[in-house]
Amino acid sequence: MPPRIVKKVPRERKMTIVEYPEKITFPVLQKPDKDLSPFFEGTENGMDFVCGSCNHVLIKNVRIVSLPILAVYLCPQCEQLNTL
Ligand SMILES: [Zn+2]
Repeated sequence: MPPRIVKKVPRERKMTIVEYPEKITFPVLQKPDKDLSPFFEGTENGMDFVCGSCNHVLIKNVRIVSLPILAVYLCPQCEQLNTL
């Protein structure tokens, strides 16, 4: 099947910074050293989710419904915890 040309409307959403809790009760996703690529990259007409602190793209072109809502992402650039 040939790739579909999709007209992209760039949509971006800032994630929310969370404090480091004393006890981590949720999954923290993190990247190996210096890997600045997004945690998830979608092919659908989704949204980009950027770090609430440094605007680094953590999730690219993914629909919000397909994301694990309780997960926390450790920004590989500024090391802040981000959540949706
Ligand atoms: Zn960041």
